[in-house]
Amino acid sequence: MTPVIAIDGPSGTGKGTLAALLAERLAWHTLDSGAIYRVLGLAAQRHGLALDDSGPLTSLAAALPLCFKDRKVLLDGEDVSNAIRTEEAGAAASQVAAHPGVRAALLEWQRRMARPPGLVADGRDMGTVVFSQAPLKIFLDASPEIRADRRYKQLKEKGLDANLPKLVADIRERDARDRSRAVAPLRAAEDAVLVDSSQMSIAEVFDRVLEEVRR
Ligand code: C5P
Repeated sequence: MTPVIAIDGPSGTGKGTLAALLAERLAWHTLDSGAIYRVLGLAAQRHGLALDDSGPLTSLAAALPLCFKDRKVLLDGEDVSNAIRTEEAGAAASQVAAHPGVRAALLEWQRRMARPPGLVADGRDMGTVVFSQAPLKIFLDASPEIRADRRYKQLKEKGLDANLPKLVADIRERDARDRSRAVAPLRAAEDAVLVDSSQMSIAEVFDRVLEEVRR
């Protein structure tokens, strides 16, 4: 079986950066599962679908023309890598992700991404559902205030508008929805290694996780 490193945790903990660094070091593939839900949210909005209407969303998920290519995310051939990174796209992703049918429709698609020599997958349910047999599971956490502050700095660096109290509120709202949903709620797998990155740089997190990889 292809080895998988499953990295889960709430938004803004550095899961994606960690996954990319590990994949580069190991020369493995990556799966950014959040991008799938973000693309679905975007596609749903473009089709004028209500984000709480599970039937049409599930059909859309089952036939989602999504493709990851050269570090880009393509929806029906269009590069949507930037369009899916807004706060609004994150909120839409979290709403479509709450439907059991949607998650079931995307399950096999995600599992097919596990190809030799290995996969580093990040998201909310990589260790608990999608790759529950993964030999290494990491649960990366950090306080909402620290995560909002990191996001604030990223937006400012890009010269974009940012409001720190609103970012904290948005993060808390998304966490609450991700943790309380009926299917695949955000939580650490029982056999996950817990890493709190609140007081750690990404380099320190990477070294910490590399220790686990080498065990
Ligand atoms: O990780 P990212 O912030 O891109 O994820 C966007 C949203 O997609 C999350 O807030 C979550 O609701 C959903 N998601 C999920 N399961 C995953 C990955 C993301 O439900 N494996």
